[in-house]
Amino acid sequence: MPDVLRFLLANGFSGHGMQHAPAVGRAISKVIVDGESRTLDISAFSVSRFAGGAAIPEANVI
Ligand SMILES: Cc1cc2nc3c(=O)[nH]c(=O)nc-3n(C[C@H](O)[C@H](O)[C@H](O)COP(=O)(O)OP(=O)(O)OC[C@H]3O[C@@H](n4cnc5c(N)ncnc54)[C@H](O)[C@@H]3O)c2cc1C
Repeated sequence: MPDVLRFLLANGFSGHGMQHAPAVGRAISKVIVDGESRTLDISAFSVSRFAGGAAIPEANVI
């Protein structure tokens, strides 16, 4: 959460949460330790995207 210090969100996985868990855990651990995820760009998943109203179409689920 950009406006809340030390409050991280790792949710909203819908039907993919188990398969995403290893990468999400690694990325979140990097955010905790380094302040950002450098090896995996997770910026597209920021909660800030809702404020911009930008839609990100899901291409791999029908
Ligand atoms: C039928 C089904 C099939 C699925 N199949 C797959 C699959 O094949 N592959 C795959 O990758 N993913 C699959 N998923 C998705 C995957 O299960 C989820 O994405 C994943 O479990 C989400 O994990 P989570 O820890 O974010 O949330 P959850 O597993 O939902 O955990 C949230 C926890 O928080 C608790 N909680 C909620 N509110 C509160 C509160 N106020 N106070 C305290 N505790 C609270 C809940 O009881 C729960 O234990 C499937 C999901 C379903 C429903």
